[in-house]
Amino acid sequence: MKKKTGIYIHIPFCKSKCVYCDFLSARPEDEDQIKRYISSLVEEIREKAERIPAALKTVDSVFFGGGTPTLLDAGELIFILEELKKGFYITEDAEITIECNPGMSGMRHCPESEAAEKPEGNTKRAQQEYFEKIRAAGVNRISFGLQSALDSELKVLGRIHRFQDLKDTFAAARVAGFNNINTDIISAIPGQTVESFRETLKRVTEFEPEHISCYSLILEEGTRLFEHLEEFPPLPDEDAEREMYHLAREVLKEKGYEQYEISNFCRRVTKPEESGLYGSPKAGNDNPYGNNTGCHHRVGDGENRKQGFVQESNVDYRCRHNLGYWDRAVYFGFGAGAAGFDGKVRYKNISDTEEYIKKAGSKEDISQREVLTREDAMAEFMFLGLRKTDGVSEKDFYDSFGVTMESVYGDILKEQVKQGLVEKTTGGYALTGKGTDVSNSVMAEYLL
Ligand code: SF4
Repeated sequence: MKKKTGIYIHIPFCKSKCVYCDFLSARPEDEDQIKRYISSLVEEIREKAERIPAALKTVDSVFFGGGTPTLLDAGELIFILEELKKGFYITEDAEITIECNPGMSGMRHCPESEAAEKPEGNTKRAQQEYFEKIRAAGVNRISFGLQSALDSELKVLGRIHRFQDLKDTFAAARVAGFNNINTDIISAIPGQTVESFRETLKRVTEFEPEHISCYSLILEEGTRLFEHLEEFPPLPDEDAEREMYHLAREVLKEKGYEQYEISNFCRRVTKPEESGLYGSPKAGNDNPYGNNTGCHHRVGDGENRKQGFVQESNVDYRCRHNLGYWDRAVYFGFGAGAAGFDGKVRYKNISDTEEYIKKAGSKEDISQREVLTREDAMAEFMFLGLRKTDGVSEKDFYDSFGVTMESVYGDILKEQVKQGLVEKTTGGYALTGKGTDVSNSVMAEYLL
């Protein structure tokens, strides 16, 4: 269970709005708005850091989300990170993630027309320098919002990138030293078929990202897709959607990904602790996109091991930051619309970017708070924890609430076990495959 604090930073800017998106994101009004936003964000960090008790200031995950955080310059991102380091203790091994739109990595000052006219090599070099700078500043995980590997589907979604952009940015990130990369994909896109989704899975796994998130598209009120559904190709029906989910689980398992949450999959590798012993990054790996730690392929590993030169550790690439959400760990959110949780109270910052810019860092309150009741907290423990394939731990429940899980949820658990939705694990409960298929209704039972 994650015990340390997480930090989420929201960057509410995108180059244009995707048709399905209901996140807080919009095209920035102008360059000045981005600058003003960054200074308000930093004010909020400074102001909150002063008030947060020292016991909650040890941070082992930072997540830059959006929006499109890579719309910021490397210098701007580093500036924010430095401010965080002043106000919090960021552990040496902290996971620091940035979401990256494959069509937008550090290219804000490079309008499309200009970029198109630039020799290709220039743009690629700029991208790589960008990744190198943020990597040197401590960012060690990239989350690419690919969504589909088919350009026709990306176009339907209103994404600004094409598959080739992912190829380029992924390769640039690898060369810059990123060896922990997530790629997001979406199923149930209008017009998508099981076969076209299979193609996306095939192409994505060829890149060998360490982590893959796979969510079903949700039709959200207020989005262009919701309001003008008739203008889009038909949505896959429920059966096709289910089939896509099953296909993702099957293909990703075949390719060596372990499912650790309803929608999240990762690789687990045995890795040398002293990576210096493993020579140059590209040794033995012909895949330009591969994680070039060398740990899978290096000739002579066996000999080194025999002689005791290499100590190994089992590394998995689960997203520590998101695990914190499912484990109800403390996290602080900074930025417009960002949410946080101090262990007892959940809060959400105001969602209007201009209002946020005006108020953040001032004495004015910028958040809405919800104090959780004990019942709320217990329900959260169950429905968030059951999202993980490890499920929920009876001991953790007892440690958190001083009563047994059995005494609070015994009847529900008994019934769900009987129906084959939930199963007993060593020390707790987890969803079965059948329960995962209807997870929303299984979780709803825990709301007291
Ligand atoms: S890039 Fe992401 S945040 Fe931006 S509009 Fe598209 S879906 Fe929304």
